[in-house]
Amino acid sequence: MTAQGLERRLGNRRDVEIWLVSRDNFMLFTPLLPEVCSGVLEPRHVVMPLRGMLHHQSTWCITADVDAIDTQGHVVTVIGGDGDPHRLHYDTLVLALGGITHTFGIPGLDEHAVGMKTLADAFGLRNRVIEMLERAELEDDPVARQADLTFVIGGAGLSGVETAGELEDFVRRVRRRYYPKIAESEIHTYLVELKNEVLAELPPEMGAFARQRLERRGFEVRLGTPIREVREAEVVIGNGEVIPTRTVVWTGGVRPAPMVAKSGVEVDHAGRVKTRPTMETSRSTAFAIGDCAVIPNVEDPDGRPFAPTAQNAVREAKRLAANVVARIDGRSLSPYRYRTIGTLASIGHHTGVGIVFGIRVRGWIAWFMWRGYYWSRVPGFNRKVRVGLDWILTALFGTDPVQLKVEDASSALGSTGRRHAPVRDRETRD
Ligand SMILES: Cc1cc2nc3c(=O)[nH]c(=O)nc-3n(C[C@H](O)[C@H](O)[C@H](O)COP(=O)(O)OP(=O)(O)OC[C@H]3O[C@@H](n4cnc5c(N)ncnc54)[C@H](O)[C@@H]3O)c2cc1C
Repeated sequence: MTAQGLERRLGNRRDVEIWLVSRDNFMLFTPLLPEVCSGVLEPRHVVMPLRGMLHHQSTWCITADVDAIDTQGHVVTVIGGDGDPHRLHYDTLVLALGGITHTFGIPGLDEHAVGMKTLADAFGLRNRVIEMLERAELEDDPVARQADLTFVIGGAGLSGVETAGELEDFVRRVRRRYYPKIAESEIHTYLVELKNEVLAELPPEMGAFARQRLERRGFEVRLGTPIREVREAEVVIGNGEVIPTRTVVWTGGVRPAPMVAKSGVEVDHAGRVKTRPTMETSRSTAFAIGDCAVIPNVEDPDGRPFAPTAQNAVREAKRLAANVVARIDGRSLSPYRYRTIGTLASIGHHTGVGIVFGIRVRGWIAWFMWRGYYWSRVPGFNRKVRVGLDWILTALFGTDPVQLKVEDASSALGSTGRRHAPVRDRETRD
């Protein structure tokens, strides 16, 4: 979004080049990610191609991994598809590397749990859930069958509750229509949270409403309960309670991309870049925004920084584009200011909860506002139409349990141009 803002402000100027380095050649619209997991939305419809968002001749979209950042020498080293390091020299740097899933060192979480941060996470979770339903139909052992049909979500913040709501909707719907041999009473869903409340981002009564609705739908909500260990077919929570499950979704923590702490700019105890209200870092030629930065709110009487949300990231990007151009032209920079209009969450079953302009909303109306708001924020007309059509088509025809095994790369050429398994292996499989 910063690059887009720069294009707008720079117009036809040829004296400035923009280099956008990203691991993926698209931008992910995260608020709709849980709906990818339930199959309501097609994965491609919640991402926007970067090359479709940026049009200037002097803009370069580079699909590569940032491998090192040297803010003293003004060099960013990137590794692209060829596997070779490339050094990019810059005059002004914007750090916008976001965050990664934080596992807090909980044993087994890395190996056995699924996150909910990337498109691959959402797609992988959907496949996992379908795999479990397919497996359960063949399973005779009651304990193994229970592990297949039990789904545990760790973290009852916004993304945890939204994921829980979508996942439960999906499992119940496809079970009824496609897996009649599995009884509804065999499916168990748990929401496990360390804090003593659901949706801590909202006023307590809104969280209580979300909890009550989830429990009514069969969720076992465990508050004040840490996840202690995740194993292949069970999870240990609280004081040692063991829940048989093969599917643990972890939404309990995000930490800044580790790369920013190694870049030479000042960071806080959590590894987020400390900035001024203008988003300048301790190095005058580097700025930072979004989830990897901590930006002080000059209007907050308690001096609290802005929350790491998409709402802020998008608006920070606009202000930052103006500040970068001001710096190039030798003008003074302005602080980022924003007063949030509110927070909304969808909890599944056409139910939402939230607070908008100080007014508390819940139920169907909140869900409708949630959809309306996020639809209006989907970047570009093209994607808005696709998302809108997906919603209509799912309402008409429902969702299905098609499992696209993209990880079975034996049928496709990998990025090296070689098949991961020879063709003859597939032909002689049986
Ligand atoms: C499931 C979910 C739901 C959410 N829902 C909401 C919501 O409803 N409302 C809201 O306001 N916020 C929501 N958020 C939070 C919101 O997504 C983030 O606050 C926002 O995306 C932060 O933007 P960012 O640009 O800082 O980071 P990101 O969006 O994470 O972007 C960082 C980018 O940098 C890339 N990158 C990272 N490291 C490298 C590297 N080494 N090399 C190259 N590229 C790299 C990443 O691939 C990514 O594309 C949600 C988050 C999640 C996970």
